[in-house]
Amino acid sequence: MSTNTTTPSSDTFPLHFELTPSAASRADAEREVMLSDPGFGKFFTDHMVQIEWNTEDGWHDAAVIPYGPLSLDPAASVLHYGQEIFEGIKAYRHADGSVWTFRPDANGRRLQRSAARLALPQLSVDDFVESLKQIVQIDKDWVPFAEETSLYLRPFMIATESFLGVRAAHKVGYYVIASPAGAYFPGGVAPVSIWLSTNYSRAGKGGTGAAKTGGNYAASLLPQEEAYANGCSQVLFLDSVDTTYIEELGGMNVVLVYKDGTLVTPQSDSILEGITRDSILQLAEDRGLTVERRRVSLAEWKEGVESGDIVEVFACGTAAVVVPIGELKGEGFTITSPVAGPDSLTLALRAELTDIQYGRQPDPHGWLTRLDA
Ligand SMILES: *Cc1c(COP(=O)(O)O)cnc(C)c1O
Repeated sequence: MSTNTTTPSSDTFPLHFELTPSAASRADAEREVMLSDPGFGKFFTDHMVQIEWNTEDGWHDAAVIPYGPLSLDPAASVLHYGQEIFEGIKAYRHADGSVWTFRPDANGRRLQRSAARLALPQLSVDDFVESLKQIVQIDKDWVPFAEETSLYLRPFMIATESFLGVRAAHKVGYYVIASPAGAYFPGGVAPVSIWLSTNYSRAGKGGTGAAKTGGNYAASLLPQEEAYANGCSQVLFLDSVDTTYIEELGGMNVVLVYKDGTLVTPQSDSILEGITRDSILQLAEDRGLTVERRRVSLAEWKEGVESGDIVEVFACGTAAVVVPIGELKGEGFTITSPVAGPDSLTLALRAELTDIQYGRQPDPHGWLTRLDA
């Protein structure tokens, strides 16, 4: 029996992208209005990448085409069984006008791991990185110049076969769309309140928690409503087996900072391994700090804050980079974390990471890849 993961790989035959320029590209003036206040995920560039896959031919028909609606058969399996994965990665404008991205190979490998879990075919890391270059090169003018802004790239893969039987689809599409993103904290980095979900889990043991897949997000939306109703902006999930250990937010990882400088982050099979977290922890190790990846109970958080051993808590992910957590609220309790002041490790690591991403500081780990040349 053949499986999707053993199908022809494009590793040895890099894909060639056919370009169809958009006849409806926005005028400079119209684009500039959007770039002056992009918000997040509201506006999309003039083009998109599309690559097709099927069991006979593997990956084929790579193309850069005008941005626009997909034509999907109503029986496409993604619409019924949610066979979907995605990535999130940014293109950063440097002072000399060049455009760079951050650790795209890590996102490419994560897309492969997500694909394996969702029984989708694997795209080679080289083709993944090339797909980012293709969209950025055609839509380079959409990469904003203002400080802390970026072009957010959203690669995703969906099952497009029209078939209602339950099995891995034999026809799949991979796409990349791009959306200008404003500064996440235009008024300066501010701490957020987090809601502890005790009624719902985002991922179960052996489930899809470690994959970047839409279903995990669908499962987080109802608890997210609960968070809003309690004056919080995000949800913290506990492990679904013991409901004792902290896992992560709906779309961001969590790190606790101890007063001796040790950084502790939860480790489990149902957490999505963030590239922002990995990079921040590397920068902390570069400073000689100790990093622990292990199980962390909610009690450890509570007691650590009460005793003063835990001095900062933050969340991290590509969209917001690093966000200090000011308080954790749940049914009948509030844990108020010490405020991450200007001298905090949280803000220092955030600044160091963004300085590397925007080319304001050397890139000692070779994390940057140029996209526009
Ligand atoms: C994408 C994502 C993150 C953050 O990953 P980054 O690579 O840092 O952007 C964390 N948790 C979940 C559930 C995610 O989907």
